[in-house]
Amino acid sequence: MRSSLKDAVSEPYWLTQAGAPAPAAPLDGADTADLAVVGAGYSGLWTALMAKERDPARDVVVVEAGTAGWAASGRNGGFCAASLTHGHENGLSRFPDEMPRLVKMGLDNLDGIEATVARYGIDCDFSRTGELQVATAEWQLRELQRGPGFLDREQVRAEVDSPTYLGGVWDRDGCAMVDPARLVWGLREACLSLGVRFYEQSPVERIKPHGAGLRLHTWRGRIDAARVALATGAHGRLLRRLGHFVVPVYDYVLMTEPLSPARLASIGWRNRQGVGDAGNQFHYYRLTADNRILWGGYDAVYYNGGRIDPSHDQREATFAVLADHFAETFPQLSEVRFTHKWGGVIDTCSRFSSFFGTAYGGRLAYAVGYTGLGVGATRFGADVMLDLLSGARTERTALKMVRSKPIPFPPEPVRSGVIQLTRWSIAQADRNEGRRNLWLRTLDRVGLGFDS
Ligand SMILES: Cc1cc2nc3c(=O)[nH]c(=O)nc-3n(C[C@H](O)[C@H](O)[C@H](O)COP(=O)(O)OP(=O)(O)OC[C@H]3O[C@@H](n4cnc5c(N)ncnc54)[C@H](O)[C@@H]3O)c2cc1C
Repeated sequence: MRSSLKDAVSEPYWLTQAGAPAPAAPLDGADTADLAVVGAGYSGLWTALMAKERDPARDVVVVEAGTAGWAASGRNGGFCAASLTHGHENGLSRFPDEMPRLVKMGLDNLDGIEATVARYGIDCDFSRTGELQVATAEWQLRELQRGPGFLDREQVRAEVDSPTYLGGVWDRDGCAMVDPARLVWGLREACLSLGVRFYEQSPVERIKPHGAGLRLHTWRGRIDAARVALATGAHGRLLRRLGHFVVPVYDYVLMTEPLSPARLASIGWRNRQGVGDAGNQFHYYRLTADNRILWGGYDAVYYNGGRIDPSHDQREATFAVLADHFAETFPQLSEVRFTHKWGGVIDTCSRFSSFFGTAYGGRLAYAVGYTGLGVGATRFGADVMLDLLSGARTERTALKMVRSKPIPFPPEPVRSGVIQLTRWSIAQADRNEGRRNLWLRTLDRVGLGFDS
């Protein structure tokens, strides 16, 4: 094992911080609600919060299988992006006509998150630092040079000093940094302050029509609700059709010890942007409030058969690769140790951006498929779910992005074969000046892909 990883504990750093709320009691017995939200990640919490903001009289209950934010929402990189489409390029390739509107809606959504954080006094280190995209290979440099706001090698190294950087672009408006777990805890508290009720440690086992509404069954209880919002992310198994469109993909992260002022000065980073490199297999990294570096990405792992299992939260081979890449990127920090290592599941779909729909005659709505970029976009998705449940046609529900679905993945075992071939091809493209092989070009043509 790399010496820098020797003392790293196998837990998501964010969730180990002080301030985690005591979980709500499990559902035990029968209850009713106007709106039942299944899942207490960002998607469910935003849905519950905005349902109450839209109509304070509505009785809203959240039912969570574990504790709020234990899954992706409490363990991510905390890049809160304005993009609703997993990046501008991806959006342009899929929804060219509505991109100007989607860009505006995305920026409004990010403003809405900032305003909510301020309104409820959520202490989650939200800061609009923007994101620096860096090129570490000539082919990436050529791509970044084509866009606006290009920074040459000296300019980008004046921001963050790595000898691997050849150039970059600093998107100042399109991304904020946030402490992900504290955002969850703050949203949960805001929901409670408006009267949302919570049941935690209460997996919903099935949903059935009941009278004019739906009945949710848990091990020891049930809820009769007029409307249901399904916010179960990659973990959702309640609506079978979602399994055609979503695959669980694991993403891994390391966290360093806090950097001393001298060590931090050795890499600059005074503007504290989030950083991502421009490879297909990209790293993302950022500073925490106490000047640790979160370092994640690169490997996006699909376990054959699509199994979600707690044992997959740890993957030593990936941690070793990440630690090596960190050392190459910041040789100045060769003495820095990692304190935490973890992984988590993202809800990948073939178009990389969320999709939406209803079931049970419009009594249930879902939003899923954020593919590793849901910290900000889940708030937009929550608005879409509430619009869909209201039955009203809105600017959001009229979008092609909302009305259309991604191309489904083939069933297993073909699915595993296709995904592993795609992962291999993506790695090859990074080694081969970005050139995409025949397989990737074919997928590009039909609009199918694999990303994190
Ligand atoms: C390591 C990692 C790094 C990431 N980094 C970033 C990043 O920097 N920026 C970014 O934008 N995105 C990032 N993401 C993705 C982002 O975290 C997700 O898109 C987002 O959190 C999704 O929120 P969600 O509420 O849809 O899902 P989740 O947070 O997964 O929440 C779903 C919840 O539903 C619950 N649930 C499921 N089934 C049931 C059931 N039957 N009954 C009751 N409850 C149920 C689960 O227990 C879970 O709590 C990252 C993800 C990972 C794993």
